[in-house]
Amino acid sequence: MPKNTMLNHDYNRQNSGGIYIHIPFCKQACHYCDFHFSTSIKKKPELVEALCKELAMRKNELKTEVETIYFGGGTPSLLTIGELQLLIGEVYKNFKVSENPEITLEANPDDIVSVRAQSETIFSDYKTIGINRLSIGIQSFFEEDLKLMNRAHNAAEALESIKEAKQYFDNISIDLIYGIPGMTNERWKKNLSIALSLQVPHLSCYALTVEPKTALKKFIEKGIVPPVDEAVAKQHYEILLSETERAGYDNYEFSNFGKPGFHSRNNTAYWEGKPYLGIGPSAHGYDGNSRSWNVSNNTKYIKSIKAGILPLETETLSKPDKYNEYIMTGLRTKKGVSIEKVIREFGPKYSEYLLKQAEDSLKNKLLILENQTLKVSKKGKFLSDGIAADLFLVNLD
Ligand code: SF4
Repeated sequence: MPKNTMLNHDYNRQNSGGIYIHIPFCKQACHYCDFHFSTSIKKKPELVEALCKELAMRKNELKTEVETIYFGGGTPSLLTIGELQLLIGEVYKNFKVSENPEITLEANPDDIVSVRAQSETIFSDYKTIGINRLSIGIQSFFEEDLKLMNRAHNAAEALESIKEAKQYFDNISIDLIYGIPGMTNERWKKNLSIALSLQVPHLSCYALTVEPKTALKKFIEKGIVPPVDEAVAKQHYEILLSETERAGYDNYEFSNFGKPGFHSRNNTAYWEGKPYLGIGPSAHGYDGNSRSWNVSNNTKYIKSIKAGILPLETETLSKPDKYNEYIMTGLRTKKGVSIEKVIREFGPKYSEYLLKQAEDSLKNKLLILENQTLKVSKKGKFLSDGIAADLFLVNLD
């Protein structure tokens, strides 16, 4: 079992990778969500058994030490301590885990509050089994936003879950959503000021997006909910940048803000292109050359794993694919896109293409070229995905 250290600053280690474990159950469907999950937890024991088996089946796939283990979902806080312990134990049994891994559990406020009411020891139990980082899905501290999104928790539980968790965990992240229809600038500012006053050391903040086939999309089409306004979302993002900067957070990736020493090692490894295994239905993985993903269906997943077959599809990435990914993630992160790296990994044709394509954005001050590194300017930040798309290519070879 890992030590219960709260932080580790060596996430830049090269020979390291991660394991993502997808827990595909939720109490209820949030209206905006298009992740894979089931609202029936009948199959939870069988699913946990299958996750353990998949970890064993894939023990030779990760050639690096495991630096990060991430329980995402769905709602991992629906797992019992026993189930989480079993899964962490299975990782240790089958992989070489670094001495001081980051082990994150995504948790929903209502689970934290209700589990805490049943068990005094839940947080110390989490720590005992090695979990050293909590990522709490707050989304908003306001009832009207939570209701519109059909979250399972209420505003009081949002507050209480953080206060409870803080008694045991230093390394806490919360998710917040801005650009929600009806959310004024004042309400968004208040959300941020609550988070900042609670001294949460890491924030992941996302604009509400309307995904196809979601209830939110249908409600907007029927006029039940007003459409998402991109101009308002941009204002919210600008408020987010200034409020977090003033409070000493580092905006190390477009949506992620951390106090010194509290950057997510899991996310950073992902943006740096480190390998990771995706375990569980719909989970994605990357080995440096190809991406793979499991079937997004709990029944099919369990059946296939039981039969000893990985329900996995794989796509080998071409050189342009890898270049495009590097541009996309590089421009979203503080590190930017290194021209030297482009030359080294893709060749001079790619760097020439990149600089040529970047000319307009450089002229318009949306991009900055500094020390042979391309970065988005403050002005370009909210447009970074569009700016990156202008730099993409199909094939140069
Ligand atoms: S709890 Fe998370 S994964 Fe589950 S429906 Fe809501 S947003 Fe989606």
